[in-house]
Amino acid sequence: MIMTRQLQKHYGRVQALDGLEIEVPDGAIYGFIGQNGAGKTTTLRILAGLLVPDGGSAEVAGYDVVCNPRAVRNILGYMPDFFGVYDDLRVGEYLLFYAAAHGIRRQAAQKLRDDLLELVELADKRDEFVDSLSRGMQQRLCLARALVHDPQVLLLDEPASGLDPVARVEMREILKELRRLGKTILISSHILSELADLCTHIGMIADGRLVRQGPLLQMVEASQLQKIMLRCHGDAAPAVKVLECWPGVTALQTVNDRIELQLAGGAQEAAALLKELVLAGAAVAHYSIQEHTLEDAFMQLARG
Ligand code: ATP
Repeated sequence: MIMTRQLQKHYGRVQALDGLEIEVPDGAIYGFIGQNGAGKTTTLRILAGLLVPDGGSAEVAGYDVVCNPRAVRNILGYMPDFFGVYDDLRVGEYLLFYAAAHGIRRQAAQKLRDDLLELVELADKRDEFVDSLSRGMQQRLCLARALVHDPQVLLLDEPASGLDPVARVEMREILKELRRLGKTILISSHILSELADLCTHIGMIADGRLVRQGPLLQMVEASQLQKIMLRCHGDAAPAVKVLECWPGVTALQTVNDRIELQLAGGAQEAAALLKELVLAGAAVAHYSIQEHTLEDAFMQLARG
């Protein structure tokens, strides 16, 4: 549904995109992850037809974003990371304005306005001024605006940024509803844990290049580091002695009476380490392996 090939973009001397290649399958919720300045917003703006790339190509639903921007705009909704609004506009008027910009007739637009406000849970705010809304409400309104022309594809730039935990949960619920409606969604974010139960696919970007992409589960499993937590009954020194020289152990730390570490490999390596600890005389009272998280996968790749 979305594809970029060798995408390049410079701002003066800054190379924002350096041969970026991403592929977002039809119906996917694609979490686009990268640190500040990695090139996420630049990519989204190119896909939305707001920036022209210096090289390479980008397609949405088979339409080239440079050669066919009108076709792309018809099937694409874009929610920028910055919410701008005209003064003295009420919530309902705001959506009617964008509906008119998309050529939707007044009567249909009024129904659409009400449906969208219902979807983003702002129906009771219809007659309030937009700039009197909280940040979370403005974000939801911005999402409703991106949906005015019922686009099949959505580009959301940091939709949860600046929101408090409750507003984030509300935003996530709305995105899940959009997933149920079959939209293809590209979401940029650094809040990784929030993407984990939402996304079907993940793409990681660093310095304008794709580091890795694929189905979410595959990405998490690909992180070959496991977190281990153990507790010893009595003296922990024999365990620490083993851990300090065991190959594959990193990030070793003692927190109160627990020892935490990262170990390369999988279950076999974890079992071998436990065996060695016991043989070395450590009274291991608790030994647990924590599941891989998206955060772990990203941190590992980012360090790489
Ligand atoms: P963030 O998570 O902080 O929003 P990002 O991943 O969205 O970052 P971009 O905003 O795409 O990253 O920026 C990529 C690079 O391009 C950065 O080095 C940034 O400083 C630079 N850049 C972006 N916009 C401009 C601009 N208008 N002029 C000059 N440099 C820019």
